[in-house]
Amino acid sequence: MSEATRCAAILTGGCQCGAVRYALYARPEGVHLCHCRMCQKAVGGPFAALAPIRVRDFAWTRGTPDTFHSSSVAVRGFCSACGTPLSFAYSDSEWIDVTIGSLDRPAETPPGKHLGTESRLAWLDRLAELPGGTTDDDMEPDRQARMASHQHPDHDTPEGWVPGPDRQRGV
Ligand SMILES: [Zn+2]
Ligand SMILES: [Zn+2]
Repeated sequence: MSEATRCAAILTGGCQCGAVRYALYARPEGVHLCHCRMCQKAVGGPFAALAPIRVRDFAWTRGTPDTFHSSSVAVRGFCSACGTPLSFAYSDSEWIDVTIGSLDRPAETPPGKHLGTESRLAWLDRLAELPGGTTDDDMEPDRQARMASHQHPDHDTPEGWVPGPDRQRGV
């Protein structure tokens, strides 16, 4: 166990199924959106939202991610059980970036800059103009009644917690 893991975590996060959890023991720096083509593919979205943290201030606290070397100099971590993209790092770097969406409280980690702008999708300019609705607005009432979340809650859980179908929605 590193020195950092004996301190209280400042931020925690993990994958959707809960098999992999992590902790940050310092505030991330240089939080950003990366629009590069590799990040688009790696997260399956229009960009990756990433929070860099020094490796010494970071620990995997439950399980470990599977990894894919997206290039000869970079490695990306993801949960092999549920597929959640979790991290990006250059192989020789003292920094690791975690995906903002996998943090337990992503609203506390806003991005401050864009990277990879050569691949930025032009339709992002129009996002603010699009109509919006809540999750419930978009789900039929009978489906809402049958819906039970299998997503790990947005906080650490006791040792021995296992992914399962029997938890309440929103817990
Ligand atoms: Zn998972
Ligand atoms: Zn990128």
